[in-house]
Amino acid sequence: MNGKKVFEEMTPYKPGKQTAEVMKEYGLTKIVKLASNENPFGYSEKVKEAIPSLATDFEIYPDGYTTELRKVLATNLQVDKDQLVFGCGSDEVVDIICRTYLEEGSNTIIANPTFPQYKHNALIQGATVKEIPLLNGYHDLQGMLDAIDNQTKIVWLCTPNNPTGCLINEESLTLFMDECPSDVLVVVDEAYYEYVTTENAPDSIKALDKYSNLIVLRTFSKAYGLAGLRIGYGVANEKITTLLNITRGPFNTTSVAQGAAIVALEDTDFLSYSLKETAKNKQTFMNFLDELELEYYDSETNFVFVKLPISGDALFEHLLSKGYIIRSGEALGHPNGVRITIGKKEDMEQLQELIQAFLISVLEGKQS
Ligand code: PMP
Repeated sequence: MNGKKVFEEMTPYKPGKQTAEVMKEYGLTKIVKLASNENPFGYSEKVKEAIPSLATDFEIYPDGYTTELRKVLATNLQVDKDQLVFGCGSDEVVDIICRTYLEEGSNTIIANPTFPQYKHNALIQGATVKEIPLLNGYHDLQGMLDAIDNQTKIVWLCTPNNPTGCLINEESLTLFMDECPSDVLVVVDEAYYEYVTTENAPDSIKALDKYSNLIVLRTFSKAYGLAGLRIGYGVANEKITTLLNITRGPFNTTSVAQGAAIVALEDTDFLSYSLKETAKNKQTFMNFLDELELEYYDSETNFVFVKLPISGDALFEHLLSKGYIIRSGEALGHPNGVRITIGKKEDMEQLQELIQAFLISVLEGKQS
């Protein structure tokens, strides 16, 4: 039984290696996963404590309106409750947006490389995807504006961008929004929002008051450490969220995820702790890269994309055999590079030693 024609050229998402699989393959007792930008500090102890009381009444459907979490977030973000739409991770919000706005004959504009789910979901809806190459890790915003035509429905701005980590600053975003036609939806995906430290970051939620064609995506998967519970959200003008709420499944986030997200928002100490540790370890890692004269993209996230004098796959395979899972740039459209999530101090120290030793051995081998 064939699917839509577009499936002939598509494959299912291939998740990174699973910890147990790698342990068995290489006979290792410890694995450090630095491949998916998860939080190495875990998640709030308060969430852990709350889970038993949330894990009840499974025979009842969850609250399809996400009432309590909606109230808390609306207050925190100072938006109207109905400006929010929730999803099974922001992944699902991406899918909901594509199902709502894209169809055959329409097109959508993305950066390249960027988060792959924009393209994946757009293709399934039969839309054409226009990919505009990044400029040294940053979105080519003028190039993206120039690519807009009468059939363009959505422009995706992943900021900070995955896999490069580069942020679109306030001035650039404002210029872009001012130039972008108001009937083109602009998705500002801020999955790594909490990690941003630069002063000229945009206040995208405030920008919603000015631009009715803007939607901001955020998630509990990264800084809050709740990737396994699958909950993310979008914030936009009510006209947009009404359509998205028509498209989404009626019970698309679980009661446990909704409750845990509320507790996670309350525990600001855990959030500050993990952001502070990540920032420190990232700085140490960038100093190490500087010492080795390795280039990397500007990063406003919990990961760094390192440009290498060798293939990303070679470093990936080597580190894998030592128990460190990172992401090779090969699959991300950048073969001579790797994306490394910032981990705990002791793990980063060991990783740095392994990277240095491997690069020296490979480069010396090349010379001799
Ligand atoms: N957007 C970006 C830029 C991401 O990197 C990710 C996760 N890798 C997501 C969205 C999806 O996150 P989630 O579905 O876990 O909320």
